[in-house]
Amino acid sequence: MGTLVDTILGSNINYVTLAVPFFFLLIGVEFVAGLVQHKRLYRFNDSINDLSCGIIDQIVGIFLKGLLFAGYVYLFENYRFFDILSAPPAMKWVAALGLMLGVDLGFYWFHRIAHEYAAPWATHVVHHQSEEYNLTVALRQSAFEGCFSWVFYLPLALIGFPPAWYLAMAAINLLYQFWVHTEAIGKLGPLEWILNTPSHHRVHHARNPKYLDKNYAGMFIIWDRMFGTFQPEEEQPVYGITKPLHSWNPLWANFHAWAELAYDAYRAPRWRDKVKIWFMPLGWTPPGLPEGPRAGQVTRATVKKFDPLLPLALNLFVLVQFTMTLALAVGVLVLSDQQAPLGSIAGPAALVLWSLLNLGGILERKNWSLPLTVAWLAVLPLAAWLWFAPQPTASVVTAGVAVYSIGSAVWLLLYRRAFRSATDIDAGTPPSWHAIEPAAASERRPTSGSTV
Ligand SMILES: [Zn+2]
Ligand SMILES: [Zn+2]
Repeated sequence: MGTLVDTILGSNINYVTLAVPFFFLLIGVEFVAGLVQHKRLYRFNDSINDLSCGIIDQIVGIFLKGLLFAGYVYLFENYRFFDILSAPPAMKWVAALGLMLGVDLGFYWFHRIAHEYAAPWATHVVHHQSEEYNLTVALRQSAFEGCFSWVFYLPLALIGFPPAWYLAMAAINLLYQFWVHTEAIGKLGPLEWILNTPSHHRVHHARNPKYLDKNYAGMFIIWDRMFGTFQPEEEQPVYGITKPLHSWNPLWANFHAWAELAYDAYRAPRWRDKVKIWFMPLGWTPPGLPEGPRAGQVTRATVKKFDPLLPLALNLFVLVQFTMTLALAVGVLVLSDQQAPLGSIAGPAALVLWSLLNLGGILERKNWSLPLTVAWLAVLPLAAWLWFAPQPTASVVTAGVAVYSIGSAVWLLLYRRAFRSATDIDAGTPPSWHAIEPAAASERRPTSGSTV
């Protein structure tokens, strides 16, 4: 121990948590760059949904990572070939370079399988649902992808890469992939030969038929060049999945593909197909069911994005509540990094997921999001009291949270009429702004929204 490589890879530092402020700094830089270039790189609802998926991934990860990491630790402790930790420093650097390539190769194959087979795709699809391409899309990650990906890294345990090294390098690999999610950077000359770049990864996120299932690279594009999945950026990419999600509900984003598979399994006439469907290549349809739609040509001019309108005051409401939820989520992550017992952080973690569900519903103006958000706001002061109870400041904190909750509830309920036209939420037929602004609302149709 004691060398720089040990410090970087062996210190159990969670680089992803540390990087959170830089994520937001760079998102701000890209947003301003878009304004300067007169390009609309961000949509508020889309980015809130991206970030919500990212938070859910991190929160769920707290509870899953021990389980998913157990196999790696077991193989390392019982069957490793090399003892890298007792190697001389120069060899450790060579090993670190090998690990960087090994993690990236594991990612390539996981990523490729995740695009080619139905069950892992049902998890990875989350990363591809956005119809935009910006740095918030980088943070849009599946909460359950780890249930499949862990297998692809087990050879690294057998070689003898220590678990802490593997975790650190996997985080570095993930962090590398952040900056490639941008339209603000063009092609980068000779770097395009070796590295995964914004241009290469734009192709990966595109739904144009010629771009489908290409450029699986994490850090190095060499794997795509070696294994025949490379495609340079030529025509303008159109982003998203071929069957758009059309929802801002981040939980549905994580489960919709599972629900579709389960529905097809239920409808399949033959019993063996009900089992087989989970293991088949993507696009396979059980005999007896209608074929799914095939990817067609798309251009930015013809594609219609999911974009339900919302009064400005409700967008601001979502922004305030989201900021609050993000702060709560970062608190949960910090507690987890400090090895707090899972039982003690389960409550705050559940509050985070509940809030993100509410905000997704509000962005779609779904009726159910009103009572659910009011209930969440009512629970918040109670939760604050339970969390801080032994401390003398508990009553002050609880009173402050109660004021926040009451203010928020009044703010939301003032705009309850915006929620009654849930059936108009088709992006193709946006309702009139005036119909959903409180001052101009002249209709008096009773709805469940207005009774809350
Ligand atoms: Zn992908
Ligand atoms: Zn990506």
